Amino acid sequence: ALYAAKAAGRGRCELDCAGAEDPDQELARDLASALAFGEVVVHLQPIVELCSGTVVGVEALARWTHSRRGPVPPDVFIGVAERHGLIGALGEQVLLAACTQLAALHRDTGRRLRLGVNVSGLELSDPGYPARMAAVLEETGWPAGEVIVEVTESLLEADSAVAVAALHTLRAQGIRVALDDFGTGYSSFSRLDTLPVDVLKVDSSFIATTTSSVRRAQMLRSIVGLAQALGMDVVAEGVETAEHDELLRGMGCTFGQGWLYGRPMPLAQLAATLATRPLVKAG
Ligand code: C2E
Ligand code: MG
Ligand code: MG
Ligand code: MG
Repeated sequence: ALYAAKAAGRGRCELDCAGAEDPDQELARDLASALAFGEVVVHLQPIVELCSGTVVGVEALARWTHSRRGPVPPDVFIGVAERHGLIGALGEQVLLAACTQLAALHRDTGRRLRLGVNVSGLELSDPGYPARMAAVLEETGWPAGEVIVEVTESLLEADSAVAVAALHTLRAQGIRVALDDFGTGYSSFSRLDTLPVDVLKVDSSFIATTTSSVRRAQMLRSIVGLAQALGMDVVAEGVETAEHDELLRGMGCTFGQGWLYGRPMPLAQLAATLATRPLVKAG
């Protein structure tokens, strides 16, 4: 049945592609125009210090609402951008927008939040990347010390010497490096030792299974301990419930990110959240 479905799928594609444009190509063209018109926007998701509940940072996440298709998930359009030479422009727009917004927030409220930005392996493999990042920081006045680039293991599995060199250059500029989605790749543990990493972001699939499996909880506890022994900060991703929060605090995990603390949101909403939220959580 699986093969039949696959064959049918392929047949349909061949039919579609004969006359119409390749859907990936079409999406790429629309994305290029969205980038040109500034229609790819950035949302900011709070990252909190677990012991106090204080928002100490945000992660910048790209958002694109297609004029006909509606919202396109980043897991779809980031891949399109990578395959069609648009990821550089996309990354730069997200970075510029996020730095501008956080600088404005700092001016207006005195709150300075750390900024996490996702960087694709392709962007890092461009030797000009660190200099362009420095130029954006210069332009917006946002300090390098408040920037954390988030990279995934998969990019580094490719063992791109240029990408790893870029991480070292960024670090020399004062920027920190986070290993994103930790626990989903293949070579996590050996790479932890050799890569320039300051922050470990534990993938949301981990916390999701922790409350139902004692063994998963033990593994998470060990990852937190390992990261701390190596002098890294740990951020747990996908914190959705008070139970997750409590469990993580019990493990000595320092930071958390997830729907419990706030969804990715536009700056105005983030500012409102910060204004109403007590700096220190009661109890
Ligand atoms: P990521 O860097 O691991 O980002 C975290 C993802 O988890 C985000 O998905 C966020 O919305 C989601 N999330 C946050 N809290 C929760 C929670 O409590 N539960 C669950 N189930 N999910 C939660 P999103 O925004 O769909 O982004 C998906 C991925 O797309 C990101 O994963 C990142 O790898 C990539 N991405 C997003 N924006 C950019 C960008 O500007 N540049 C690049 N290169 N990649 C980006
Ligand atoms: Mg990330
Ligand atoms: Mg992640
Ligand atoms: Mg991810």
